[in-house]
Amino acid sequence: MRLRFKLKTVFILYFTVSLLGLIYALMHLGQHCECSEHDMTKDRTISRLLGKLHSLQGHTKKEPTKPHLPTIYVITPTYARLVQKAELTRLSQTFLHVPQLHWIVVEDSSQRTDLVSHFLEHSGLVFTHLHIPTPQDRKLQEGDPNWLKPRGVEQRNEGLRWLRENIWAGETAEGVVYFADDDNTYSLQLFEEMRWTQRVSVWPVGLVGGMRYEGPVVEQGRVVRFHTGWRPSRPFPLDMAGFATSLRLVLRNPEARFDGNSPMGFVESSFLQGLVTMEELEPKAEMCTKVLVWHTRTEKPKMKREEALQAQGLGSDSKVEV
Ligand code: UDP
Ligand code: MN
Repeated sequence: MRLRFKLKTVFILYFTVSLLGLIYALMHLGQHCECSEHDMTKDRTISRLLGKLHSLQGHTKKEPTKPHLPTIYVITPTYARLVQKAELTRLSQTFLHVPQLHWIVVEDSSQRTDLVSHFLEHSGLVFTHLHIPTPQDRKLQEGDPNWLKPRGVEQRNEGLRWLRENIWAGETAEGVVYFADDDNTYSLQLFEEMRWTQRVSVWPVGLVGGMRYEGPVVEQGRVVRFHTGWRPSRPFPLDMAGFATSLRLVLRNPEARFDGNSPMGFVESSFLQGLVTMEELEPKAEMCTKVLVWHTRTEKPKMKREEALQAQGLGSDSKVEV
């Protein structure tokens, strides 16, 4: 009887304690704990880390991938004279607007000049600076008419040599080669016309050959003859500024170069002959109906007053580069 009573008491006690424990637990369920401070710093750390991750992702994120563009290699012969820096300035500031352009500047000199070196370093362009002097017997002498000897021939060939020695001739050699004299005027549109040249693309050139323009004549999408005032029977009666060749064609024909000894008006033909036929020419600039490049020529500045002042020791400061 005594034992029974004891067992009953223990059972009731056990039951009561359990019930109280259960009530206590239920009362605290869902109640906010006193750890809000701790949670806030945790939240802040998480958001700070997320921010950091974001900014790191921003850093590593690649530029939105531009569609692949063939490089335009522009070969420019140039020589020292009063207007040289002005010509190069105008030219380079046109080229700065052309995406994916590599300027190959070839000085007609026995070494690179300081003027052109400094100029190119500050040009903001991708460039290669070369030099090769025109042999004395090939150089135009003071007073010679400008048609007597071709100019810039050795320099253009030097540019071609550089391309052949420095650009790999594989399938990836996608690009265009254009010969741009330093005194012409170039529309930006011209570079987009030539960019996808397969072999040789052509277009008219304004203010050349004693004409308003010269250029290919296109019928049914093909070049059938040339509009020129002089010897239309030449293989390619085109101005240097009137065509571009694909880089691949240049690299796969390592013998193609300009012949400085070719008769007047045949320099362009000496390069293009053997590379392409008239039928294969790719007419650009709206089937050769638009002039996008002009064979402008810069007047030689007169220095009469400068010379007079120099005679008195009052000439312009020679340290000022013009
Ligand atoms: N040129 C050169 N050396 C010279 C004369 C000209 O390198 O002794 C360059 C010139 O800077 C230009 C190209 O050859 O880029 C053609 O010369 P120019 O513009 O005088 O020829 P033209 O317009 O009379 O055909
Ligand atoms: Mn010129």
